Order: sequence, then C-alpha cells, then structure tokens
Amino acid sequence: MRPPSVDALARSLSDLGLPHPLLVDAARLAIAAGDPGSARGRAGILAATLLRPVINATGILLHTNLGRAPAGPFPTPSAARYANVELDLATGGRGSRDRHAAGLLARAAGAEAAIAVNNGAAAILLVLTALGAGREVVVSRGELVEIGGGFRIPEVMASSGASMVEVGTTNRTRLDDYRRALGDRTAACLKVHPSNYRIVGFTEEVTVQELAELGPPVIADLGSGLLDASTPWLGGPQRWLAGEPAVRQTLAEGAALVTFSGDKLLGGPQAGIIAGRADLVARCARHPLARALRPGGLILLHLQHTALAYLRGEAAGLPLWAMATRTVASLRSRAAALGAGGVVDLAGAFGGGSQPGRELPSAGVALAGDHAAALRAWDPPIVARVSGGATLLDLRTVDPSDDEVVGKALASCSPGLPALPV
Ligand SMILES: *Cc1c(COP(=O)(O)O)cnc(C)c1O
Repeated sequence: MRPPSVDALARSLSDLGLPHPLLVDAARLAIAAGDPGSARGRAGILAATLLRPVINATGILLHTNLGRAPAGPFPTPSAARYANVELDLATGGRGSRDRHAAGLLARAAGAEAAIAVNNGAAAILLVLTALGAGREVVVSRGELVEIGGGFRIPEVMASSGASMVEVGTTNRTRLDDYRRALGDRTAACLKVHPSNYRIVGFTEEVTVQELAELGPPVIADLGSGLLDASTPWLGGPQRWLAGEPAVRQTLAEGAALVTFSGDKLLGGPQAGIIAGRADLVARCARHPLARALRPGGLILLHLQHTALAYLRGEAAGLPLWAMATRTVASLRSRAAALGAGGVVDLAGAFGGGSQPGRELPSAGVALAGDHAAALRAWDPPIVARVSGGATLLDLRTVDPSDDEVVGKALASCSPGLPALPV
C-alpha cells in the first residue's frame, strides 16, 4: 500500500485546531519514520508546546516555569486599540514610556523616580552599565550570587563594563572592607540580596544604612520587590514576610537606587524596575541600553494596573496576595468540596527566589498514584506534584473559579480510587 500524501495526512488532522503548516510538519515526520499512524500523536506533542494558561496546583506561588506571579484579570480593550505608550494626551506631544507604570510605582514605593525594563536582570545590567562602565563597583564576596538561569553577579558586572571590586569574605564583610576599597574610580557600592540561599553561623554584613554613609551611591539589587515591608495592603506587617527586603524601606535607609523584578513579590508582569534618585534614574533612562531593554505597551498596561492596585490600597486583591493570604482552613474546605481524593495538609513555598527555605502551610488533595501526565494533558493543563506515590494538588495557587475544572479532572483520573490516607 502506498503511504498517504503528506498533504492528505495533514488534512486528516485538521480537527486538532493547529495551523496547517504545523500539521504538515507532523505528517512529514510520521511518514519519514515509516509510521503515518503516528502523525496524530506527533501533532499532539506540537500542540502541547504552545503557550497557554495553566492551572498551578504546585503550591509554589512564584513558579518560574509557570511565569512566576499569576497574571490577574486586567483591563483589555474590547476592540482593536492602540495605547498612549509614548504620547502625552494632554499636549498631543511626545510622552514618556516611564510616565505611567513606572511613575506610579515610584509613587507607590516613595521613590523620586523609576523606570521599567524587561526583567530584574536587565535592571541591574542597565544600572551597572549606566553608572559603572569604566569605573569600579564595590561588592561583598558574600553577595556574588547566582540566580536561576545563569544570572551571576560577576558575569553581569563584566558585561556592564564596570570593574568589580570584591571585598570581605563569604561569611563576613565589614564597613571597613568597603571603606578601604573606595577611591577615585569608585562609581557605587552594590548590595545584592541573597534571594535563594542563606549564610548562617559566624556571619557579618553591612546594612544599606551604614554603606550609604560612605559617600558613593548605594545600589541595592533587591530581587523580590516587596514594595513596602509594612504591607499596608494586608493590614500591617506579616510575620511570614519578615526578613524580606522591601523597596520603600531600602530607599529610606539611603539606597540611591534599588532594582527588583515585577513578577516576584510585586505580583505583576515580567519586568524589572529601577527606582530611586531622580538624577540616577534619568542617567539609566538616557543610556542607549535602556532602549534595548524597554518593555512593550502590553506589559506597561499590566504593570500600571499593578501599581494602581497598590496606590488604591487594593493590592490584597492582586492574585499573588489573594493566594498568599488564603487560610489553610479555607483551602481544606475547598479540597473537601472537590469530592475526589483525600484532603491533605501540604507545605507550599513562595519560590522565585523569595523567602528561601521557608514553607507556606497549605492544603489540598492527594490522589493515590502518579496522575501528573494526565493532569497536564487536561484542558486547561493542571500542573501538580507527585510525592511518595501520590499526586498532590495544592489549592493555594489554584484560583477558586478553577475548582470545578480541577474536580472534574480529578474525577476522571481516579474512577473509584479510595482516598489516600495521609
Ligand atoms: C530574581 C533576581 C534577579 C533577576 O531578576 P529577573 O526578573 O529574574 O531577571 C536579580 N537579582 C536578585 C537578587 C534576584 O532575586
């Protein structure tokens, strides 16, 4: 029997909803492998590579593989529209891309000025380049961190053109170490928050406040971007956020600039923010690299929505904070209402380089056996953990409006399976 033509085979897969050229790719691969029947499976694998909203049942609030902070419902135009990204609507003249989203974030954080770039790594790269290229930046050996994805402070420093002057030791760095390193070529002192590790034991580090007294501008790479340590949007300071550096307080302690991510504890879209002294923010904004690192209008719209929520005192309603503050009791009763699997107490986490090593008490459902692949194949895909022979779904990171679809998926995974005793 002659093998089917590529085109005919591709057409037979049209119900999968993929564009024809992608179906042709799947058909061609299947025929080349001598197994035309595999075309449907191959097309399915292609479809699974498409970017789409998923349900995060891992209990990790800032899951890097799932885009970190959950994307909230935010205003989308009902028709094809443009945005005043760089148009001043009052004058009709050229406006600034940093006016709306970043300006509002500066206001919310008590900073003189701010700009937004593509991500936290871009923010620190731009600051080091604009302020430090051809000069020296002083940093403690205890803070030469590597964040995920190959972001290493010494390498970012090297690509910025600033000379890194390391001071102190891994576990102990004193003010005198910084002081001795200062000279004519010093552009700044850099403090980097050790987001994903802790140095414990015989340790000593210098505060931003002490560093600020030395003279050169202090740049603080905060990473997680908690806007205000007193979390007024949650009704006051939260014990579970203790130790997390915050934008407002770090600036008040004397940092000239802070950098942080938009999609960690800010709860917004992927972005990097540079906030602080107006003259230094302006130098960053004027640098040619800023043009290469700028975010687009969609991101700015989402970031502005986030900033406005903080300014209105309504940030508790941002999906990240709504999820973070759910009580374990409410999660347990949602888990029981799903009607599948057994209700279990779980330990979630912040993730995304915030609160390393700290667990977030949580609750959800346990199902005997490994159903992770079946849940990922659900529409929308559900990402769960497998541990100790059971599939665990943590409801903290699941929006309650998704409970129904999660319940259906669980029921289909576990026809008649007994609840797992934990
Ligand atoms: C996360 C983090 C970064 C990188 O930010 P991205 O938004 O991931 O680019 C830089 N520095 C610190 C301290 C971080 O925690």
